[in-house]
Amino acid sequence: ADKKNLSDVLNKPKLNKDDIIYLLNLTDEKDISELIRKADSVRKEYCGDEVHLRGIIEFSNYCEQDCLYCGLRKSNHQLERYRISPDEIIETARKISSAGIKTVVLQSGEDFYYKKEVVTNIIRNIKAACDVAITLSLGERNFDEYYEWKSAGADRYLLKHETANEKLYSALHSHQKLEERLTHLKYLKSIGFQAGSGNIIGLPGQTIEDIADDILLCKEFDCDMCSFSPFIPSPETPMKSIPPADLKLTLKTMAVARIVLKNVHIPATTALSTLSPEGRKLGLTVGANVIMPNFTPDEYKDKYRIYANKKTYDPVKYVEDLKQMIHSMGRKIGTDKGHSLKKNY
Ligand code: SAM
Ligand code: SF4
Repeated sequence: ADKKNLSDVLNKPKLNKDDIIYLLNLTDEKDISELIRKADSVRKEYCGDEVHLRGIIEFSNYCEQDCLYCGLRKSNHQLERYRISPDEIIETARKISSAGIKTVVLQSGEDFYYKKEVVTNIIRNIKAACDVAITLSLGERNFDEYYEWKSAGADRYLLKHETANEKLYSALHSHQKLEERLTHLKYLKSIGFQAGSGNIIGLPGQTIEDIADDILLCKEFDCDMCSFSPFIPSPETPMKSIPPADLKLTLKTMAVARIVLKNVHIPATTALSTLSPEGRKLGLTVGANVIMPNFTPDEYKDKYRIYANKKTYDPVKYVEDLKQMIHSMGRKIGTDKGHSLKKNY
């Protein structure tokens, strides 16, 4: 029988894998509340009360990869594909900036149609037009591309490791290996990108131990941003019959991640708000300090179908509602770029 005492574990300066597994396995409501209170206090101590908004543009749903879980996978022939022109991407970035948001996230499938120079020009133009940080989330690209985009002014790169379980990773990705992905992450960090990683919770065959490894991998890689998001099935993928992730496990994972990782940015994800109508608010109470409102223009939004029932909304109105919610929670909106908490960027 487990003889651990919850308060003792929560007050340890450094949690080991056993401690993390113990916390992820908590079932008693009072224990879970204590875990969440601790996560919230660590968030307050290391990140303050600011919630950073990042405006995201999903500029292409073409993808060369075939990740089993994702609706954008190459083999999904039911999906109508789109590409947004560089001019429209830059115009959308201006809208994000006008809404008072100081980070623009450019996200797409792995779409090499946007060549190195095309992305470089988009970065330069956005930087010239708006006072914003730029986060790229374009999947695995070439090292010389990463290098040039960093030099052109991009600040951050999101490339989730998805799962730290090598076998599971290979089963979900027909042509990719976990090791490769981690090499990319290391390279991104080495050239000065603020790097984001993270997992998907609720993958078939994934164990609590795997999730503990996901948190520890983010620690080992000294990630600046870490996203722990629930799996939501897409009816257009082979994983259509896999149930969505458990809400409680997702929230516990975020809370434990906050306690272990401390000075990192953790988003309350869109997937979490798809899993539960209160998702974003719940996320902010269990350690999250980032929200990424979606500014993808309306005509494309429905086609960026990673999974079913993704929330769509008018971003400007949504940001107003978010501000109210955030203030009502005694928190505030971040007014600067919300760079990494780890170095002086
Ligand atoms: N193609 C880029 C990449 O994979 O890094 C960026 C876009 S991809 C859609 C962004 C993230 O979506 C992935 O890192 C993955 O974790 C997440 N994702 C894909 N399918 C999902 C699903 N069914 N449920 C939850 N998250 C999913
Ligand atoms: Fe493509 Fe990214 Fe989806 Fe994988 S997760 S299929 S790389 S868009």
